[in-house]
Amino acid sequence: MAMFDLNETQKQLYEMAKDFSNKEVWPKAKELDETAKFPMDLLKKTHELGMLNAFVPEEVGGLGLETFGHCLISEALAMGSAGFCTAALANDLASVPVILSENKLVWKEFLAPMVDECLMASYCVTEPGAGSDVAGIKTTAKKVKDKYVINGSKMWITNANYANWFFVLAKTDPAAGHKGMTGFVVPAKTPGVTIGRKEDNMGQRCSDTRGVTFDNVEIPEKYLLGKEGDGFKLAMGAFDRTRPAVAAQCVGLSQRAMMCAIDYAKQRSAFGKVISENQGISFMIAEMARDIEAARLLVWKAGVEVDEGRKNTYFASLAKMFAADACMRITTDAVQIFGGYGYNKEYPVEMLMRDAKIFQIFEGTSQIQRLIVGRLLLGN
Ligand SMILES: Cc1cc2nc3c(=O)[nH]c(=O)nc-3n(C[C@H](O)[C@H](O)[C@H](O)COP(=O)(O)OP(=O)(O)OC[C@H]3O[C@@H](n4cnc5c(N)ncnc54)[C@H](O)[C@@H]3O)c2cc1C
Repeated sequence: MAMFDLNETQKQLYEMAKDFSNKEVWPKAKELDETAKFPMDLLKKTHELGMLNAFVPEEVGGLGLETFGHCLISEALAMGSAGFCTAALANDLASVPVILSENKLVWKEFLAPMVDECLMASYCVTEPGAGSDVAGIKTTAKKVKDKYVINGSKMWITNANYANWFFVLAKTDPAAGHKGMTGFVVPAKTPGVTIGRKEDNMGQRCSDTRGVTFDNVEIPEKYLLGKEGDGFKLAMGAFDRTRPAVAAQCVGLSQRAMMCAIDYAKQRSAFGKVISENQGISFMIAEMARDIEAARLLVWKAGVEVDEGRKNTYFASLAKMFAADACMRITTDAVQIFGGYGYNKEYPVEMLMRDAKIFQIFEGTSQIQRLIVGRLLLGN
């Protein structure tokens, strides 16, 4: 029989994450937005509760949490602060290509310490001249004896200033397109690595986004992931596990926006009655609920598919596309329900609306998700 409910373990995980998010994260969300300060204290608490770096395999001491459980945590944490949740999830985005590579030496050296300590990592793929078009990256890695020498510039790298190591995608054979791309782990302290200034972003302001430059950065060949030419597959394969979690973030943020809108609509009066009694307002709330429930089901489907060993690219893209677009609509409608107060920083919904926008852009824009689904259906 198809199951649409959580088992006891999943319920406990979700409730624990939601409780933490409501009590410790949401009360700090406004301050995090205003100060744009990296939420290290909250990340440490998340780590203490076992909810950070939960993908790390059991073989090296981690929880080895499945994608489904990870989505439950992501939804709950994003209900507190989407920017904080993005900082937490960036670790997973960096770790999953490493996990997929099955390079056990690298697992021990870089993933195992993340279980004991609240360490951060970054996924370095995007460049100033190449975002959606990953095959257009220019960073190179040249083999010199038993080392690789990396040169290039990465852009929009989440957690860059706090990362202990980077997953870096570089070209080992620039003439071979995506087949000439290779993935590496680069320790952040390696000579030649320069971290840029913090970007002044529209939303999710406590999350740290920077450029990273690699200038003749020498790394031992043992930090190569898989073999030369495997990089594109590893970097894109990670999205099958991380896009469902990003879509879950959208569900959490949307849920928060709907809760704020309902509370406000029930206490704001116009024309002698509370605005929630107007059908126009109740329709907006009903459509929010419709999209949240539908997005959550897509997230769960995408999670179950990959956890049961089936290729889930189709569902991961559908979930991210639907949930991100819904989140933008829902947060915009929440601002509408607040009227003029919604447009003001005194109330939380303008922050939620700014926080929502990036979901249509990172980890593959909403157009790129449509491209992927279209290709899978039409064989283009
Ligand atoms: C806050 C933030 C955090 C980020 N974190 C990371 C990170 O940790 N690591 C990392 O590697 N990257 C990260 N990124 C980069 C992000 O993934 C890219 O910005 C994203 O993939 C889009 O690339 P681009 O910005 O170069 O836009 P472009 O690829 O230049 O796209 C511009 C517009 O054209 C559209 N477009 C492009 N090609 C097509 C097409 N074929 N058909 C239809 N429309 C198309 C896009 O959808 C978009 O609307 C982050 C970005 C931001 C803003």
